[in-house]
Amino acid sequence: MHLKDFLFAVINFVILFGALFFITRKMIARMFKERRDKIAAALDEAKAAEENAAALEDRIGKDKAQAQQREDELLAGTRRQVEENSVSAAESSQEAANVLRQSAAVREQQLRSIMQEEVSAQVLRQVAEATGKALQKDEYALRRKALVDDFIQNMDHSVSAQPSDLLTLSEGKKLAVTVAAAQPLPEEELASLRQKLTAIFAAACKEAGEDVPAGELIDLRSEVDESLVAGVRLRVGDTVYDGSALHRLERLVRDADHGCKDGQPVLENVRQIIASADSSIDNYQVGEVISVSDGICRVAGLADVMAGEMLEFEGDLRGMVMDLDQDNVGVVLLGNFAGIQEGDVVRRTGHIIEVPVGYGMCGRVVDALGRPIDGKGPITPDGYRAVESPAPSVLHRQGVTVPLQTGIKAIDALVPIGRGQRELIIGDRQTGKTAIALDTIVNQKGKDVLCIYVAIGQKESTVANVVRKLTELGAMDYTTVVCASASEPAPMLYIAPYAGAAIGEFFMYQGRDVLIVYDDLSKQAAAYREISLLLQRPPGREAYPGDVFYLHSRLLERAARLDEATGGGSMTALPIIETQAGDISAYIPTNVISITDGQIFLETGLFHSGNRPAINVGLSVSRVGGAAQMPAMKQVAGRLRTDLAQYRELASFAQFGSELDAATQSTLCRGQHMTELLKQNQFDAKSVEDQVIAIFAANEGYADDVALADMSRFEREVVAHVKLTMPELVDVICEGKKIPADMLASLRKTLESFKESF
Ligand code: ATP
Ligand code: MG
Repeated sequence: MHLKDFLFAVINFVILFGALFFITRKMIARMFKERRDKIAAALDEAKAAEENAAALEDRIGKDKAQAQQREDELLAGTRRQVEENSVSAAESSQEAANVLRQSAAVREQQLRSIMQEEVSAQVLRQVAEATGKALQKDEYALRRKALVDDFIQNMDHSVSAQPSDLLTLSEGKKLAVTVAAAQPLPEEELASLRQKLTAIFAAACKEAGEDVPAGELIDLRSEVDESLVAGVRLRVGDTVYDGSALHRLERLVRDADHGCKDGQPVLENVRQIIASADSSIDNYQVGEVISVSDGICRVAGLADVMAGEMLEFEGDLRGMVMDLDQDNVGVVLLGNFAGIQEGDVVRRTGHIIEVPVGYGMCGRVVDALGRPIDGKGPITPDGYRAVESPAPSVLHRQGVTVPLQTGIKAIDALVPIGRGQRELIIGDRQTGKTAIALDTIVNQKGKDVLCIYVAIGQKESTVANVVRKLTELGAMDYTTVVCASASEPAPMLYIAPYAGAAIGEFFMYQGRDVLIVYDDLSKQAAAYREISLLLQRPPGREAYPGDVFYLHSRLLERAARLDEATGGGSMTALPIIETQAGDISAYIPTNVISITDGQIFLETGLFHSGNRPAINVGLSVSRVGGAAQMPAMKQVAGRLRTDLAQYRELASFAQFGSELDAATQSTLCRGQHMTELLKQNQFDAKSVEDQVIAIFAANEGYADDVALADMSRFEREVVAHVKLTMPELVDVICEGKKIPADMLASLRKTLESFKESF
């Protein structure tokens, strides 16, 4: 059989294989070639990169060598100068006492020379370290001793009894005094130190009218701390009197570091440091962290600290004293507290927490401590102002009579705001609360009102959008944005509004008009609740602490219109509160409603049905605004609020009935048109004269037969027409006068003629 079949199969197979080989040969060859090319290209690239890297390495090496050389020169110079001084100083001990000061002057010279180039704080630190090391050598023993003598001699001026020291003495206890020096202090020096201190505290006791306790006043301990380099560090109770070389060097470096972080040019910075560095003894009070948790820490010591005082922690961290206990204080930490440990040293600053204020703040975005966060460099303040300061007294206030135009028809006509008033903007989330505040800020352009927008607990992107929009519309020139974003610790959200108020108050007391927006205070209340609960204060209603009313009342009371004797400035506050499901009877909303002079209530339903701004006319009021409304506006919009409320009432009834009498129908028609007219887009501010003309026209029924969809065109055209034909009317309105009867009559005539052409 089948040999033939078999052969046939073999031949078939060979032919098939051959054909396949012929077809794919080219493809395979091409594939291999491509691969080879690719590999070759990659190899070339790698080689080029290697060469590049080598060149770069070379350059870095050269740069490094140059930098090293410069540093070496500098350090050598420092040493040489220090040594040269030693020869001249050997003569008298009085001269020797000045040597440290002299070498500081030399260092200054060197620093000045390197300042010409770009110098980092690191080089500065090395200079300081080298100076420290040089001073530690035996040959400078004389000089070090002189420094100690100097300290003891100057003690009369530098050491004084703090209230806590007197308290300790009056309790019959001895004052704990520790004196630390780099070398053991000889007995006679310790004796003179003890004698001087005893004299100082005895005198202080007498001055305070207390009996000088019998026996020893102080309990003196002497320590050796080589790290001090030279000089003495004296600690009485919690107060440190630091005359050590280490401290001075540290301060130099710290200030330099600090300056670099601010982006301030090193040159300017070092110059300032040197100008302020003197050989006087630094005096500060310290405490010690005993526990840290959730951004709250307890600090022992700090005997004389005040409530609300700012404290300095290691690094750049600040804290604020919130709780004063018998033997420790509760501190809230204003920043990233990850680095804080038990046992860390805390320093008093001696002043209540404060922010920089002044015209330099305009156009800037700052955090709750007034530090710029917009990357536009440091701010030169005109001064500092305590974040918490008392509101102006009743005697220094006057009534609100000057209008603050928002440019929003519904507000200026129905709930007018006056300069110095506090008007709450309240509503659910996403109902256009921020939009109203921003529109108002933008409308202050050219009206000589400085604005402050405080963003509390918002997303940083939202704030960035606000800033961008304000910049675009040219409103940022007169606006300061204070931002404590959602990611910041609760204490920052808590103090942000007070910081904003302090910035505003500066302008107000200068006689300027200020508008401040707090967006929003519900988040501040929540932050305060968080702090209070962490400080273990007892929770009250809705877990808020008992003083949450005071939280907002003391803030909003700072808005005022000052009388002429106090400068005549004003601060108008627009606090914003977010409600949950329109519930204005919740705890925080009722609190703030009762503190403010009226509220603008925004409704989700209205917002979604296209009535924007979504102001609920029935629930919104302005308790002082009427007095501050433009007279012409008052004239044309006096009855508008009641009319609109009546229309709303009727409209809800009319839904059910089919047969309506003519009067009802006309009320409904008028109301519909008026409601349509009051709709307004965002960033579409209207001037007073435009508002008055449009509202007059609609109120008098000239728009009744206009189709609702045509209302915006009607408004535009009627305003343009009247302004063109009756320029004298515009003058009257702008001058803040009432429209005289004859002018009203001619306005009616003009409107009639306009209607014919419309
Ligand atoms: P949130 O609770 O998130 O702070 P909000 O109440 O502040 O919200 P806005 O952010 O002011 O509300 O407004 C919500 C949206 O409605 C925005 O996109 C805004 O552009 C739009 N909006 C607000 N007012 C108007 C208006 N008058 N006309 C058209 N759109 C508006
Ligand atoms: Mg908002």
